Amino acid sequence: MEAEELLAIARTATAEDPVCAACIGRLVADRSFGLANEARGNALRIVADLAADEPHEPPAATECWVCEGHSARVDEWAARAVECLDGIEFATYMVGCRVPPLLEENDRLLRELCGLEPDAGEPLKAELNREVGKLVGKTTDTIVDFDRPDVVVLLHLERGTVEREINPAFVYGRYQKRERDIPQTEWPCTDCGATGKQFGPDGEEPCAGCDGTGYRYDRSVEGLTVPQVVEAMKGTEGVFHGAGREDVDARMLGTGRPFVIEVKSPSRRTPDLATLEWHMNEAADGAVVVSELAYASHEMVERVKELPASKRYRMDVEFDAPVDEPAFASALDQLAAATIEQRTPNRVDHRRADRVRTRAVYEATGSLESPTTATIEVHTAGGLYVKELVSGDAGRTEPSLAGVLDIPATVTALDVVAVEGETEPFDDPAYLLAE
Ligand SMILES: [Zn+2]
Ligand SMILES: [Zn+2]
Repeated sequence: MEAEELLAIARTATAEDPVCAACIGRLVADRSFGLANEARGNALRIVADLAADEPHEPPAATECWVCEGHSARVDEWAARAVECLDGIEFATYMVGCRVPPLLEENDRLLRELCGLEPDAGEPLKAELNREVGKLVGKTTDTIVDFDRPDVVVLLHLERGTVEREINPAFVYGRYQKRERDIPQTEWPCTDCGATGKQFGPDGEEPCAGCDGTGYRYDRSVEGLTVPQVVEAMKGTEGVFHGAGREDVDARMLGTGRPFVIEVKSPSRRTPDLATLEWHMNEAADGAVVVSELAYASHEMVERVKELPASKRYRMDVEFDAPVDEPAFASALDQLAAATIEQRTPNRVDHRRADRVRTRAVYEATGSLESPTTATIEVHTAGGLYVKELVSGDAGRTEPSLAGVLDIPATVTALDVVAVEGETEPFDDPAYLLAE
């Protein structure tokens, strides 16, 4: 920009007084770096004064018509933003503001008067976001994050209000489920539509399907763990994200299954994890045991859900007729070398599309406890329905233990003993938690 052009802008802008230094500086905000708009504006004002034939009257102490005085109220807005975050734990923040259309129009008008493009320099919104933001960061000793801040403060210029939004916080961990008949997530009762009520001859009564609780099972891994985390983080609600799930009647043993608990609108983001773990395990009373708690980011949710995991299962199996040792051993060897073709099991939710999936069995070992009972341990790719690997599911799973032996077989007890990574170091929290 030519010096003369700058001088013309300075002259026109100051002639439109009262215009504050920040609003003048914003006109040429893209012309120099490392200067506040107010400093730019003051410099232009001085230049205009020096070049004037007659001294320019200093602006009266009236409010700038362009920003209606908001540039001068940065301290006030920042103080209110800080106040609205009082009592909230956060490390990163972002400030945004809603500028009324009238003020945006003022910006365009001043630019038109100065012969500039309507969007020249910097808009009021950007100036306020940055200047109020800088002060908020300085006062609270936190850093700005435009991508995924812990908190967002919104200044509503017209209403004169300040709103805050707190982004969720996350805790990673692994759980063991040491008792059967516990679903991973809460399972609403379908008899009563989770209302816990039904209508009998005498009117409304507790639903018989769920004893009036609204849930099929009175406990779930989610129900036993999430409330403690919500409490510790002083949030409003929590969501359980598991790395896959085991059947309701299967235990989850060994090193446990990774999970992330998401807490909405938390006032605390870094509760003491040892204390939290103690509270969670105390509340679950041995039915569920959590370990390896760590603070996590939102990326962990997808990472935990999508990690390709293989599973190790231990099963008790019953046969409808006696099985001899060599046939049993040979059947397991055949399964261990097989790729299983499996149609969606009959027991699975019928809303799920019926399709054929192929899954590998990596290992199958076991021992006959009696001619008609056995204990089997299998290591399979994630997503294999393992009860059907034993029963054959009326020919829908091929091959199967029952099919190879030609003797009907049923799983009577199932435990997941390990959830392992197929291609990732699944057991390494340092990997899982890496940004
Ligand atoms: Zn102004
Ligand atoms: Zn019910």
